[in-house]
Amino acid sequence: MNISAPKPKNMKEAMKDPYNRSIDYLRISITDKCNLKCVYCMPGKDIKYFKRSEVLTFEEIVRFVSIAKKNGLRKVRITGGEPLMKKNVAFLISSIKKTGIHDLSLTTNGIMLAGLANGLKKAGLDRVNISLDTMDTEKYKKITGGGDINKVWQAIEAAEGAGLTPIKINIVPIRGLNDDEILSFASFTIDKNYHVRFIEFMPVGSNEMWSRDKCVTSKEVLEKISTLGSLERLKFRGKGPSRNFRLKGARGVIGIISPISDHFCGACNRLRLTINGKIRPCLFSQVEIDIKTPMRSGASDIEIEQLFYDAIKVKPQRHLLHESAASSEFLQAMSKIGG
Ligand code: SAM
Ligand code: SF4
Repeated sequence: MNISAPKPKNMKEAMKDPYNRSIDYLRISITDKCNLKCVYCMPGKDIKYFKRSEVLTFEEIVRFVSIAKKNGLRKVRITGGEPLMKKNVAFLISSIKKTGIHDLSLTTNGIMLAGLANGLKKAGLDRVNISLDTMDTEKYKKITGGGDINKVWQAIEAAEGAGLTPIKINIVPIRGLNDDEILSFASFTIDKNYHVRFIEFMPVGSNEMWSRDKCVTSKEVLEKISTLGSLERLKFRGKGPSRNFRLKGARGVIGIISPISDHFCGACNRLRLTINGKIRPCLFSQVEIDIKTPMRSGASDIEIEQLFYDAIKVKPQRHLLHESAASSEFLQAMSKIGG
């Protein structure tokens, strides 16, 4: 894209987008491969993966993070695909941590986490989000294309033992598939100090599956959960899209993320870095800024820094998913962009 934002006067200005949001959070997709095939995420057939040469290397990722950190980046999340499938992920984590990133987290399906949790913590990982959409062994197999739920239970335990806390559990409630488990997931927070986060089903990836009526709205989720007891709205919102609640007397937190019914763009503080080296200012916009080609053509840190400013300056005010949620132009697998 042919844009070049003026060089900001200071770090604070660098991180402000045109809508006065402070952009200090980067999600990095490090692989588009996955050891599961969740029905709501992966494209049904003809999955095309990026060639190795197209994928940003760890060195390139760390270089970009280091440049962004000097300009005020504070939070990084590693995602994919399944990030733990990537060899040497602990090395990447420690290299990112060494740049001085304040809050380093990772989103995983948990299948490989149990054996890695301690090493990742030692490498500098602060916490994990673990995706779990059902507590039923057979249904888990059905949703994930054959996954073993016992590995996820072991992962949760190991992550807790390693201190990768607070443990956050992501569930995408889908009508007719797992919406009968909303109360069980919410009840999880009564005894456990976990954050259980209900994320509305979005029209990305498996486009044959998505329809508006399959998306259980946050309003419905909250109505159901309030049958368990009174819900206290928590003041901390962190920066970001989750509205947080606690059931009376519960130890854990219930997070509600509503990209479909109530867009959270006003609180969006993030950029994404795709596995093929593009900064994506909004999950649902096609606008991308290539950093891989300039990096591989010898661009200086100052030139890369300029691309970072440019990405912040083109961040759209909001997405239009409510108006045109079925539009195919929005549909691209989460595993490619980085969920
Ligand atoms: N493989 C890892 C995992 O499953 O946690 C990380 C990548 S995955 C794409 C990141 C998150 O995106 C997961 O919590 C998953 O549930 C969520 N996700 C994937 N497809 C989605 C969709 N269509 N709507 C809402 N969330 C989705
Ligand atoms: Fe893989 Fe995560 Fe997508 Fe499931 S949600 S297919 S685990 S990338």
